[in-house]
Parts: sequence; C-alpha cells; structure tokens
Amino acid sequence: MNILVAGGTGYIGSHICVELIEAGHDVVVIDDFSNSRPEVLDSIEKITGTRVKFYEFNILDEEKTENVFKENQLDAVIHCAAFKAVGESVAKPIEYYENNLMTTLIMAKMMKKYQVNSIVFSSSATVYGDPKVVPLTEDCPLGETTNPYGTSKAMMERVLTDVQFANPNMSVTLLRYFNPIGAHESGLIGENPKGIPNNLMPYIMKVATGELPCLGIFGDDYDTPDGTGVRDYIHVVDLAKGHVLAIEKYQEPGVHICNLGTGRGYSVLEIVHAFEKVNHVKVNYEIKERRPGDIATCYADPTRAKEQLGWVAEKTLEDMVRDSWNFLQKKKCFYYGARQASTDLQRRMFGQEIEQKYKIKIQDFQYDTFFNRIRSGDGSKLV
Ligand code: UDP
Repeated sequence: MNILVAGGTGYIGSHICVELIEAGHDVVVIDDFSNSRPEVLDSIEKITGTRVKFYEFNILDEEKTENVFKENQLDAVIHCAAFKAVGESVAKPIEYYENNLMTTLIMAKMMKKYQVNSIVFSSSATVYGDPKVVPLTEDCPLGETTNPYGTSKAMMERVLTDVQFANPNMSVTLLRYFNPIGAHESGLIGENPKGIPNNLMPYIMKVATGELPCLGIFGDDYDTPDGTGVRDYIHVVDLAKGHVLAIEKYQEPGVHICNLGTGRGYSVLEIVHAFEKVNHVKVNYEIKERRPGDIATCYADPTRAKEQLGWVAEKTLEDMVRDSWNFLQKKKCFYYGARQASTDLQRRMFGQEIEQKYKIKIQDFQYDTFFNRIRSGDGSKLV
C-alpha cells in the first residue's frame, strides 16, 4: 500500500514509518518539524535503506495538503500529526484546538475528495478519563478529559466517527495508545522532545544525563501498591507494529476501535528503579504533590488487539528502559561526533580501571556518561 503518514518524523510517526517500510509498504510523510527534526529522515533511511517521500508543512495549509493527495496515489492515511503537550494545551487551548481539529478536518476532507477510504488515527487512553474499572476495554464508557489536549483527542475521534457514518465506504480506525516509551533498537530514532518534558520517561532521561536536577514524582499516596501512579507502558516499536497490522487488517468499512497497551501496569517508582538497574545510572527524585488531572491507575485490556489484529506487545520493561537510554546515548554521540572518536581511546586507557573500581561493566553506549561523571568526581551517581 501507499500510505501517507501525517506527523511521520515525530516520535511515534518515525517508528511507524520504519515498520511500514519493513513490512513492504510505500510511505509518504508530511511534517512541519514543530516537534521533530529533519535528521529523522536520514535515520529512517539508515534503518530501512529507503528514503521516504517527504513534504515539509503544516496540514493547516489546505492547498499544500491537497497537492500531496494530487501527487500521490494514496491507499490509506495514518494521522499522528498533533500537538501533544498536556501542560501547554492548558495554556494555549486555541492553538491546540485549531491545530488538532483543523488538521483532522482537512485530512478527512481530502480523503473524501480523493477517495482515500482508510484512516488510522492516533488516539489515546486519555479519552477514557478517570476509569471506574481497570483493565480498560474498548467498550468502557468515555470519560471526562481534563485538558485541551485530551479533549481534542476525544473530539477528533468523534469527528472521524461522524465522517465515517456519512461516508459508509470508509474504514476509520481509532487506536487508543497507552503510554509509549522506548526507542528503536538501533538507537537512531526515539523521543527527543523540545523543551522541558511533560511525560515521565523523557523527564527521567533528562535527570539521568544531568540536564535536569531531579525528577518530581507526582504523589505517593494513590491507592496503588507503592502509592505512585500506575500506567501501561508500551514499547514504541510494538505500538508501531500495531499500526501496520491495523492498516492491513481493518480494511472493511466501519469504525474500528482498538487499545494498544500491554495489559500490565507499572508504577512510577517501578519505572525509575528499572531504569536505574538496567542502565546503571542514578535518577534523583523527590515526592511532590499530585499533578492535577492525574489518575491513580490506568492499563489496557489488550484482548481485542490480539483477537482482531493478532497483535500482542512483545517487548519487556527492560527493553523499554534500555532502548530509551540507548537512543539518548547514541544521539549524543551523533551530535558530538568528535568526542565519540576519542571514546575508544579513553576506554582503553581508563575503562578497565573504572570497571574494577566501581565493579561495573561499562557498555559502549554508556561510556560517555560514566566517563564524564567519574572525571568530575561524581562517583556517587553510579550504582
Ligand atoms: N509522572 C511523574 N513525574 C513526571 C511526569 C510524570 O511522577 O515528571 C507520573 C504521572 O503522575 C503518571 C505517570 O508518571 O502517574 C505517567 O505520566 P505521563 O505524563 O508520562 O503520562 P500520562 O499517563 O499522564 O499520560
């Protein structure tokens, strides 16, 4: 199939492109780099050996969007172009509603005009609001969303459902993501948000590198085993594979709704400790007030994805925390190529001594961080 991935250089979009190409599909990408970088296109090419056809603009530009539909014989659309920072959405509701809703409307309009009848939409477990029961099945009632980002996702689901009703030939798939983390195992693509992160894993990573001093854990008095919030973290590569299956299998007309989660919840403290253990780095944290709008526990019932798509999340929590960190380390090497060149030499000179002193095995991708901490006398951060 020839598939348009809107938002294809973003964190999730880039992994979707890789999996689509590896499954034999052709990919066309639109992105305005509002939360991604042009190098991602090179990284996708490095991983897959294929250069995707790329257009740089915001889908709000209807004329340019129409040109993409004119120039390409598209079979389907995967729409993951949206603003997604919860806090920012509270401060900028107009921008969020305009961008997220209008791009979806324009996309639907073009699909109708050019008879592209299949769309997979990036939705979110946030549409369930504060769940009465877990695990969440797709039949659970939709809840009240607590910020414009979440509300825009719920509204976009509604828009696409109505569009499908009026255009019965269409297949509309709403994929409700739980908490995607991790990165491609190559370390070439991953999550690299601009500014101070809102989500847990990017925040942990910035604390681990020393860029931010301390992780605030939002509440330790929830009704959960250790008091911190429990979420269903899913490896982004598993998530991307779910999209490939959804686009291939949900071809019959109708609205298809499917959760993409693992079915297992982990607490914030479990994530922090797994990250420390697997990557041998310390993550400073302190317990803070609960974050407004947060819920105690949220995890998926992934039965439908298994039954209808033959999809199950395969990667473990270890894979998730290791791949997230690996991406960050590789990215650093990419940007600081000259420093990386000297890493081998440093390793030969000092590596053995450090490994013996701290009784650790330094892996290549961790070396830079270890070396800098030890050089600055900060052995205490090693575990
Ligand atoms: N969280 C935290 N500190 C942070 C960011 C997140 O303690 O700096 C917690 C948050 O309260 C929730 C979990 O981590 O329990 C996942 O939050 P995230 O924002 O990543 O995703 P959400 O499930 O809220 O969409």
